[in-house]
Amino acid sequence: MPLFPRKPKYTIVKVTKKRDIPSDLWTKCADCGELIYNKKLDENLRVCHKCNYHFNLDAFARIRLLVDDGTFKEADGEMQSLDPLMFEGPKTYKEKIKQDQEATGLKDAVVTGTGKLSGRGVVIGVTDARFIMGSMGSVVGEKLTRAIEKATKDKLPLIIVSGSGGGARMYEGMYSLMQMAKTSAALSRLGRSGGLFISILTNPTMAGIMASFASLGDFIIAEPKALIGFTGPRVIEQTIRQKLPPGFQKSEFLLNHGLIDMIVHRKNMKDTLTKLLTYF
Ligand SMILES: [Zn+2]
Repeated sequence: MPLFPRKPKYTIVKVTKKRDIPSDLWTKCADCGELIYNKKLDENLRVCHKCNYHFNLDAFARIRLLVDDGTFKEADGEMQSLDPLMFEGPKTYKEKIKQDQEATGLKDAVVTGTGKLSGRGVVIGVTDARFIMGSMGSVVGEKLTRAIEKATKDKLPLIIVSGSGGGARMYEGMYSLMQMAKTSAALSRLGRSGGLFISILTNPTMAGIMASFASLGDFIIAEPKALIGFTGPRVIEQTIRQKLPPGFQKSEFLLNHGLIDMIVHRKNMKDTLTKLLTYF
């Protein structure tokens, strides 16, 4: 036996084959990084149990959350965009629309209609961030304008839930920008007729959406931690060459600075709307 036995050169680590975790089982919180079991996330209305981050809700899930069961009647569900500019890029506008229609089952980025909220008739519109980032082209503008006009004519409260990082849809250029004026003018007529408009801002509500109907509510309610603004923080920093304050463009910051009226947790949203409607 040697005096100094040689140590083995390598340590052998047994690696058992990693089991694949199906990606549809877990979601990583965009704010705190917590891994959340999808079933648990759905049970908690897609809100992070650890940090209260509110994930996107699709339009119909939002409607189920706010409108009494079985009372929602969709309007203009078949309306879809043309391609007025014959837009071509890495993907043509036509391809993009077709792709998002197949992925979401929607015809465009907003669902509008009428329903009951705790027994009260309301007109409701909800943008869906999954469809070209919830951006507003001719269809979103027209459907929302019709919803606003319906609320004006039938003297019903109007609720619009915005979740759009896309603003005015670039694929339709000028036609999209015109929707900003069109929806705003319709809201002005609603206001003059004594109507009520409650605007609910969810993460993210930006650009041409925030610069038109979304910021014109008689009440402006936001979900916690939602990004709300016109231009994104990075572009502003580059333009003004200054560091922005912490939390800039988040609901909590905007509440402190008077841009919005209240921040309401998703689980309390229907109750809050019910209370507000009793004053109308
Ligand atoms: Zn979280």
